[in-house]
Amino acid sequence: GNSPLYNYNPDDRELDEELRPQRLEDVIGQRQVVDRLKIVLEATKKRKDVLGHLLLDGPPGIGKTTLATVIPREMGVDLQMAAGPVLDAPKDLLPYLTNATEGSVLFIDEIHRLRPAVEEFLYPAMEDFRVDIALGEGLNARTINMPLKRFTVIGATTRAGMLTAPMRDRFVYREHLDFYEAEDLVEIVSRNARKLRTTITPEAASEVARRSQGTPRKANNILRRTRDFATLRHPQGEITTEIAAHALKILEIDGLGLEKQDRRYLQTVIDIFSGGPAGLNAIAHSMSIPPDTLEDDIEPFLLRAGLVQRTPRGRVITRNGYLHLGLKPGPELPP
Ligand code: ATP
Repeated sequence: GNSPLYNYNPDDRELDEELRPQRLEDVIGQRQVVDRLKIVLEATKKRKDVLGHLLLDGPPGIGKTTLATVIPREMGVDLQMAAGPVLDAPKDLLPYLTNATEGSVLFIDEIHRLRPAVEEFLYPAMEDFRVDIALGEGLNARTINMPLKRFTVIGATTRAGMLTAPMRDRFVYREHLDFYEAEDLVEIVSRNARKLRTTITPEAASEVARRSQGTPRKANNILRRTRDFATLRHPQGEITTEIAAHALKILEIDGLGLEKQDRRYLQTVIDIFSGGPAGLNAIAHSMSIPPDTLEDDIEPFLLRAGLVQRTPRGRVITRNGYLHLGLKPGPELPP
């Protein structure tokens, strides 16, 4: 994707491209989602129809962009890529709509961040494949109605909940991508090691997988860094558990896969807010990190790992959260 994420540097994006699966059969894990999509794609092709609009949601780096690039390739149609935050006005969206060929895919990343005017402009395009263009002003004002080719919007979002109801309703298919199972990540790591022309022992691959927060992008990043260490030690060196452990230590990734900023989150809530409940904005302010980044990039895994809980009054560090930092939890904490 094109999301301007904290700790997501341009090199990572290059690596994403290099390692991105090309076909649906290369997409590892997410079995139920992939199986459902296969049926939809097959049926659509058989009917010689245009794929219904598809919404993909889930945490960053988990394969939304990957699926959005694989699907048009499977269908043999064109793909255009756009991102919600960079479409300032309807006129920025218009070229994508008029360039859309019959059956093609328009991928819109971070679709929850479309401006309202752009979103409203998109509605008739999605629903009736037309756009309404306002011309002139005052008494001379009129709207011309321009037909479009039938096309498919694939929207990606880290926050399905932030999508407006009319936007959500325009998607025929909605799929949620969740964190990966360890065994799927092991396979991703092993396969990507081959793509990067390096070798990794099965034990080292599971070590990398175990510490990647269920997220292929993180697994890829760790893999690349470990490869550097292996190369330094021995030019054709394979990645062993020992090398992987050394690299992870230097990267400050701990046994659960938490990075420095994740531990800083826990520590901040404990130190400044006595473990919570603390509001998202207050935590973000204390850490000097945008609230969106906290909510999108840091919290999902901490919640999933059971180190943080979301309550109506704010975020609370759990017993396990304290224990993970080697601190003594207070008596009245959630487990
Ligand atoms: P963002 O929205 O932050 O861009 P994303 O969910 O779109 O994230 P991708 O860019 O699709 O994430 O995935 C990041 C990288 O992870 C890909 O380049 C690819 O190498 C790897 N990856 C993701 N999903 C899979 C998968 N199912 N099988 C194999 N590799 C995967």
